[in-house]
Amino acid sequence: MTEKIKEALNALIENKDTDLYEELMRKEDIQEPAFAEEALKQGIFCPAELYKAASPKVRDNLIELLEGEKNNTLNINGILLALAAIGDEVVVEAFKKWEENPPAWRSKIYVGPAEYAMESGWCIENGNKKELTHDSCYALQRVQACETNGNVYGGPSKDRCPHCGSKYEEILVLDGKDSRLAFLGIDGTIKIKTCKACLPWEKYIFSKYEENGESRIIYQESGAGRRIEDENWKTEKCFVLSESSVAKHYCSEWEGSAVGGAPKYVDDANYAICPECGKRMRHLAQLGEEYTGYGNIYVQICKECKITATLYQQS
Ligand SMILES: [Zn+2]
Ligand SMILES: [Zn+2]
Repeated sequence: MTEKIKEALNALIENKDTDLYEELMRKEDIQEPAFAEEALKQGIFCPAELYKAASPKVRDNLIELLEGEKNNTLNINGILLALAAIGDEVVVEAFKKWEENPPAWRSKIYVGPAEYAMESGWCIENGNKKELTHDSCYALQRVQACETNGNVYGGPSKDRCPHCGSKYEEILVLDGKDSRLAFLGIDGTIKIKTCKACLPWEKYIFSKYEENGESRIIYQESGAGRRIEDENWKTEKCFVLSESSVAKHYCSEWEGSAVGGAPKYVDDANYAICPECGKRMRHLAQLGEEYTGYGNIYVQICKECKITATLYQQS
């Protein structure tokens, strides 16, 4: 155990303080089961990521707490989130069982256990666990001057949103041939489009892409956005991928932009259903305030259908 990990563990033991743990988690992918053990001992369930490296014993204790629910003070919400953070085969089976045969505590929570899985970036699809996040993660860093093809920000597009009249925005342009992005399994360059003005009022805006080609918006519900005049587009914005990978949980609710990794939602976890195949879409990128100017934009993808979704959340 490194000094920093010891320090974070002591802060948890002595002061129930999780700040150091969260900071460490954003900097490195720590896998230390002692945090889960201590958190459970103290009844701490937030952040749920404290449990991500829990031992089988802690996991089984959590499941037993819910199986044998005897007292009304049990933190069902917290325990389900902790189990979701563990997310191994045993947890998947327990969640499936509780979905099929709802236990008494089901009436105390608003959504089924399977919905909790999404808070830790996975879901159950056809009875199997489907990962919605990536272990690989590259930060998006602002730079003063861009190399010709290093910039992932595409700026305003040629086509316009029919609802508000603003130019669409090529919010993210990714080169799948870049070796850093090999984990995405995209063959060429893809452009992710959205309407910057309408997105805060939409649940999702979907766009269809072609590798090495254009993309077009295929679904947008309404258009409550206020038109962005052409002269107000600031196109000098340059962001590049970090040279080396960063920790999976690099982004927080408040800061950080990254491709891959796991998103940190301001509100509930939200993964769109692909409008073509009906399957849950996977996280692709989180764009924080420094990137967007205001609020967080989450980008998701269905590679099979070549569709991306953008959604907006703000604190
Ligand atoms: Zn619009
Ligand atoms: Zn699809």
